[in-house]
Amino acid sequence: MRVKCLEFDKLQTNPTNPMISENINKTSILIIYTGGTIGMVQRPETGTLAPVKFDQILKEVPELNKFNYNIQTVIFNPALDSSNMNPSLWVKIALTIKKNYNNFDGFVILHGTDTMAYTASALSYMFENLDKPIILTGSQLPIGTIRTDGKENLITSVEIAAAKEAAKSKVPEVCIYFDFKLYRGNRTVKRDSEQFSAFHSVNYPELAVAGVDIRFNSEFIYHTENKGILKVNTRFDDNVVIIKMFPGINEKVFKAILEIPGLKGIVLETFGSGNVPTVQWLTGCIKRAVKKGIVILNITQCEGGRVIMGQYETSLELLNAGVVSGNDMTSEAAITKLMFLLGQGLSNSEIKMYLNKSLRGEISE
Ligand code: ASP
Repeated sequence: MRVKCLEFDKLQTNPTNPMISENINKTSILIIYTGGTIGMVQRPETGTLAPVKFDQILKEVPELNKFNYNIQTVIFNPALDSSNMNPSLWVKIALTIKKNYNNFDGFVILHGTDTMAYTASALSYMFENLDKPIILTGSQLPIGTIRTDGKENLITSVEIAAAKEAAKSKVPEVCIYFDFKLYRGNRTVKRDSEQFSAFHSVNYPELAVAGVDIRFNSEFIYHTENKGILKVNTRFDDNVVIIKMFPGINEKVFKAILEIPGLKGIVLETFGSGNVPTVQWLTGCIKRAVKKGIVILNITQCEGGRVIMGQYETSLELLNAGVVSGNDMTSEAAITKLMFLLGQGLSNSEIKMYLNKSLRGEISE
């Protein structure tokens, strides 16, 4: 599938506070509400949490008024549980930002936590020459509940999106802010479905920590090299799969996946530093797939560390077969990068080259 164009007819822009939006000299922040627990309510009939039209953000979080910023909102209609996110919705978010880019100093995306790391990774690749913050956040408890984590997450995300030094944004990259920590979006993984500290980034340091002050770790913040007009690349190819290796993986099953018609890319989640069983059928399948032009990217199942093909005998055959090392990329960063690169009309060798290189700081070089 290639995703190119979108409809905006279902988006609504609401000045959340017309009084402050009149002042064009103020710092301006656009909040894009896509859905997620932060704006959910419990349905009395079923007891399940479902997204609602959350268009009263400043009413729910009146503290935002104290910033004296011009805050506006765009809401997705319908609001989504992020399990329903997909590439065409990533494009919708990206084009909303593009359309409003010159009128705002920073962007905050309210998003469900379940797939937030995928969206953050995808967005990071889509934007070229980004020089403003895009901060994704959400919450584990709806914003209307007493012990919600949503208020702090939203308030600090807005503050970070507005933060500048010498008239330039302090964090001009796609990030996730959650539970007092700011992470590079494409280095982040959802690690807990119950704790307020739902995210972490094992292979890359936090970009900021919010305590009494917000402490930015400036040396780790990504700054784009080519300054120019913002560009948004909107094409993804979803003819991809993630295969997680496990002891006992069966030849028939593995072979069947590799023979899916139209399959173009595989993220292979391997053991440890990139290892797989040394059985002949597996090596044979992988060699044939690579020969057919399927791009295979090797990432580790471990939360930390990286792939070093050739360190053990159990990864040497992958290296010889032409499998690409995903080094220390997360699964989320890897699959979205593969979909993104496959969508760009590049040659097989260009895709392999870019997979192993940093596009937006998602991989250590
Ligand atoms: N299922 C929700 C979602 O991802 C969970 C959350 O927001 O925390 O939309």
